[in-house]
Amino acid sequence: GNAAGAAVSTGTRPGVHRGRDAVFVGGRWRPALAQGAIEVVDPATEQVLGRVPAGGPEDVDAAVRAARAALPGWAATAPAERAAVLAAARDLLAARREEVAATVSAELGAPPAFAAAVHADLPTAVLAGYAELAGTYAFEERVGNSRVLHEPVGVVGAITPWNYPLHQIVAKVAPALTAGCTVVLKPAEDTPLVAQLFAEILDAAGLPAGVFNLVTGLGPVAGQALAGHPDVDLVSFTGSTAVGRQIGAAAGGAVKRVALELGGKSANVILPGADLAKAVNVGLANVFANSGQTCSAWTRMLVDAERYDEAVRIAAAATAKYVPGDRIGPVVNAKQRERVRGYIRAGVEAGARIVAGGPEAPDGMERGYYVRPTVFADVAPDMAIAQEEIFGPVVVLIRYQDEDDALRIANGTVYGLAGAVWGPDEETAVAFARRMDTGQVDINGGRFNPRAPFGGYKQSGVGRELGAHGLAEYLQTKSLQF
Ligand code: NAD
Repeated sequence: GNAAGAAVSTGTRPGVHRGRDAVFVGGRWRPALAQGAIEVVDPATEQVLGRVPAGGPEDVDAAVRAARAALPGWAATAPAERAAVLAAARDLLAARREEVAATVSAELGAPPAFAAAVHADLPTAVLAGYAELAGTYAFEERVGNSRVLHEPVGVVGAITPWNYPLHQIVAKVAPALTAGCTVVLKPAEDTPLVAQLFAEILDAAGLPAGVFNLVTGLGPVAGQALAGHPDVDLVSFTGSTAVGRQIGAAAGGAVKRVALELGGKSANVILPGADLAKAVNVGLANVFANSGQTCSAWTRMLVDAERYDEAVRIAAAATAKYVPGDRIGPVVNAKQRERVRGYIRAGVEAGARIVAGGPEAPDGMERGYYVRPTVFADVAPDMAIAQEEIFGPVVVLIRYQDEDDALRIANGTVYGLAGAVWGPDEETAVAFARRMDTGQVDINGGRFNPRAPFGGYKQSGVGRELGAHGLAEYLQTKSLQF
């Protein structure tokens, strides 16, 4: 880094990255060309943590030009050289783990232990995976009398959300850099501090100037300018389906590549004979982690009619242990809190029954954007709370009659991002998972694998992130015939 954009943070929390009044363009921190700033707020205290520039179209344009200028050099590096930079970034990120965790904890509101174990360690694992893949991936292969070359797509415009702020960035930037692409990143306005921290890390890792550029700013201004920029070859977006649809339409019109990671309404299917208590408890933990702000969260719990009442009792009792404040953080901002509460009220109006939580503020938590973890019973599959992404700590329990009914309900939304199946044995669960229209299914409590492909069926998106499939998104092929 350099002197431009010295810290302006109030710095009230130890270890929190201090906001720089600068964008990172062409390998330097420089003042934004556009006027205006974004205030970063701690959702747990509602205090201002720092300020970052609200970059404009002129900043995006400067960043895209820097990325274009850096492309030939970076695309020509040997994969082993790119692997070395990614490995250095992984080490620097691991060394700054406490600072990453403190920063995400402050700007997102994540409980400190979750911030360290997930928000800091998951992106480190993803970087480690790509550092390895850069060294082993077959960037050239023989197909009969052809040699197929996998070449970088070019300049990537990455637009990311706030829910897993660093993971969402690394899930795009790491494969893009591995492929030999250059990048302009527009991170979410709620969580730009960890994005600035990551720019420092890539700079310190020895990434050449212009290969990675960061422009903070508002979605409809900087984000829209980046998505619509004629010299961006691939737009990679994660966020709401509404914005993703706009970006996809614009990219189609301009004949450029687009990758979209959108919303979800994933089903947690508990089959007869499965361990009910375990399936319910793990299912709740899956949703309540990150205050329900996980696109792949299993927000619909499907239980057979015979054991439904028992599942409701277990869920209600377990939810009482998720005390807002220590075990479950706030949601990211006031707008999201009102949106989540609105859905809880809509659920009651539609005739569903609250068995834990509710729309009121949690006891003694008038400060901060807290929502009570909420469980609904007697939910019909067509209710809004069972169809739409709430993005808060809300779980709906739906009763099914038999396996075909469970499958109809599981597949009965516009989304298809993730899901879970619990069966009496692995074979039964896998047989059900094969029939699900969704991109990822955890079998009997399987663990998240950061090297396996992640992405949506149906309206949950286009393309895949993570692992070799995620890398392929950033490559285009050329075949030479002999
Ligand atoms: P969003 O789609 O508005 O924002 C995501 C990113 O897109 C941000 O960086 C934002 O600045 C940018 N953006 C916004 N408008 C844009 C535009 N017109 N052109 C280009 N970029 C634009 O999502 P949000 O407001 O952060 O969250 C709203 C909802 O999105 C959530 O309630 C949830 O349903 C969904 N969401 C999904 C994911 C996911 O991982 N799939 C993550 C976060 C949010």
